[in-house]
Amino acid sequence: MSSTPPSAAPPGAEVSPHGPRRWLGLLIAVAVVSAGVVYAVEDRERDARARPVAPLTTPPVSQPNQGTKPPSKTAAAVAARRMAVDTILLRRAKAVRIVDERMFLQDVDPANKKLRQAQKVLFANLVELSLQEIGYSQAEERFDQAAVREHGSSAYLVRVLMRYQIPGVDMTPVTTELGYTFVQRAGRWVMADDNDLDEDLGPGAHQEPWDLGRFEVHRAPRVLVLVNKGDTRSGRAIVEEAKEALTEVTAYWPRKWRGSVLIAALDDTEVRDARFADEDIESAASAGSTFSSLPGQDTADGTVAGAYIVINPKERERVDEILLSHEITHVATADLGGYEPLWLAEGAAEYVSWRGIEAISGPGEVAKWEQEVIDEALPQLTALPSDAGFYQSSADVYGVSWLAVRFLVKRLGLTAVADLYEDLARHGTDQAARDRILLTRTGFTEATLWIYLKEYVPQR
Ligand SMILES: [Zn+2]
Repeated sequence: MSSTPPSAAPPGAEVSPHGPRRWLGLLIAVAVVSAGVVYAVEDRERDARARPVAPLTTPPVSQPNQGTKPPSKTAAAVAARRMAVDTILLRRAKAVRIVDERMFLQDVDPANKKLRQAQKVLFANLVELSLQEIGYSQAEERFDQAAVREHGSSAYLVRVLMRYQIPGVDMTPVTTELGYTFVQRAGRWVMADDNDLDEDLGPGAHQEPWDLGRFEVHRAPRVLVLVNKGDTRSGRAIVEEAKEALTEVTAYWPRKWRGSVLIAALDDTEVRDARFADEDIESAASAGSTFSSLPGQDTADGTVAGAYIVINPKERERVDEILLSHEITHVATADLGGYEPLWLAEGAAEYVSWRGIEAISGPGEVAKWEQEVIDEALPQLTALPSDAGFYQSSADVYGVSWLAVRFLVKRLGLTAVADLYEDLARHGTDQAARDRILLTRTGFTEATLWIYLKEYVPQR
């Protein structure tokens, strides 16, 4: 339990692009919290947009010897390959379920020691999660000249969907994507590589906590914490802070959410969509979506199932209930849909964590901070912080968002603000819908809300 609340900087000060439309933002959002890290944001965004959303149907397969073979033979070869790879994928999933490492490694290239070692770690991690459901399926074939050069002409690269459910964490099965390379060796197909496609997949692909080093699992009711093997002390400490934080979210946010929280606090700086590698990143943590259906799989936006929290390794020692209550507020609202404006998402998360600070240190700290936001942050802006550029802003958009939520809570009551959140998260799919919902439920537009906010005098 933390006894010294942060004095000025917004706790958490992170980013949680937890909505489906924020899929493209996932890459960049964490990276650009601090000023001066606006590196290549546009490039990355452009890259992400340029990446075609992959169809799930298998496109025509280019066979090296297509010209010399009768089509039927080629089709038969493709079908046989598909069957062989399907069989391998089924076997991998079964190996995890029945905890059979030999079976898991059976189809991994015996000559590739490094891959086999990585696959052993992956297997041990997956087993430790006690997955009640796991399955792999082939999406579509991909082509990569470098992989063909490396692995030979039989190289078959395929995007693979991994569907799984962590008991007690995922309310429904969720999907993540991978890219595997298979080659034919002495008449049989084996997995030759697991990262040839990583650059071409969505943000966070093949970067799940279990894809990295060996971890250990710490559990408590509604909490699952992953730390590097041996970092037991951190694991236990974070579990305790997370339990406190869950209590706060339950106390201060009205939505009856009974879900659980997964927190990855590993040594890696790139876990899922979180990017903490840059020295200048001040972000302490992020909450990134899980998807029951990935963007582009059934719908353009995908379907958000929930969110996992990733901790910046540089901040691991400072993880406390204040930081986690902010992040858990995102997790507790993630499955609503993610269409709420960022000022409301971040404002609500800040609202909850500052209620926690208030409970610990009394109202003085909050009053002081509220006045600072009014005096210093508010004059720097001319409107409510917009989604575009929110995480790149050098102004204190977190503080102003928090103030807007404080104002609405004072005016309408907390339950009405939570209902507003839920409506916007589910139905605020475009600006017109957002405007309509906000006006109907509060009597404000974003423009009039801003005017009132500028004249807001907190009652103390
Ligand atoms: Zn946040």
